Amino acid sequence: MIAFGPVPSRRLGKSLGVNNIPRKVCTYDCVYCQIGKTELLSVDRRNFFKVDRIIKEVSKRAKSSKFDYITFVPDGEPTLDINLEEEIKALKDLGKIAVITNASLLWIEEVREALYQADWVSVKIDAATKETWKKIDRPHPSLSFDRVIEGIRKFSEGFNGISVSETMLVSNYNDSEDELEEIASLLKDLNLSKAYISTPTRPPAYDVKPASDDALDRAYMLISSRGIDVEILSRPEVGFFDIGDDPKKGILSITAVHPMRETDLVRALKEKGYDFSVVEKLLSEKRLEVLEYGGVKFYRKR
Ligand code: SF4
Repeated sequence: MIAFGPVPSRRLGKSLGVNNIPRKVCTYDCVYCQIGKTELLSVDRRNFFKVDRIIKEVSKRAKSSKFDYITFVPDGEPTLDINLEEEIKALKDLGKIAVITNASLLWIEEVREALYQADWVSVKIDAATKETWKKIDRPHPSLSFDRVIEGIRKFSEGFNGISVSETMLVSNYNDSEDELEEIASLLKDLNLSKAYISTPTRPPAYDVKPASDDALDRAYMLISSRGIDVEILSRPEVGFFDIGDDPKKGILSITAVHPMRETDLVRALKEKGYDFSVVEKLLSEKRLEVLEYGGVKFYRKR
């Protein structure tokens, strides 16, 4: 399913998700990725799903849901979709559009033009140096750190909507005082509307640990001391996951992008009059997997 949810989002309220990219096709292979290791590391922008299909599926879902944003948040990098501009333009009449991108292709003018059509855009800034960027985001070898940062700068200068950054802090990768100082300076320089800092709260693709509360506090102090509006996102989102009328499809489409806690799954199923046997069936069919992280069980599409 291309359209999923709405799901609760810590930044956007109720978010109606659009998954416009096949599973784990991405320009990065981030160590902390919550949907697993990248299966196709690529920088080739191309056609994936038919534009008509995306518009039809999202419109249908939008008509039967209440949401704050229609959000392009696939299980890959949304700007790899060459039709993104056309899709955003076509969906704008249904509500506000958000795009969550790793920003690696913003140096391409057509990508910036596509994102100028959105109302809210989140760009990933996990590092202020090439070395840390390569370590944490594991980019496609053809990408250049300087070009990525220049792309973000150009985008933020030309964008009339709300542009925010998201920085994922990972223990021993980008949470030292020196790294945080440099990230804070870079954020100041880029002049975005708001900086969000988070740390992995779901099972990561590689064996990495979340940053400590001390590191998150330090990041907050360093960034806010430069006059930047900053918020720490260390708690799970609170709210209701809408699995729609077909519970199997609904669960698989959400957990492809957004692994769910058992408590959230139980609640979502109960809301639609189903019990946990739906999940047990998906597990026995090997379409869903269960992972433990921080003592919590998460369910993810296989
Ligand atoms: S976190 Fe985002 S950018 Fe990083 S590998 Fe996963 S999908 Fe790609």
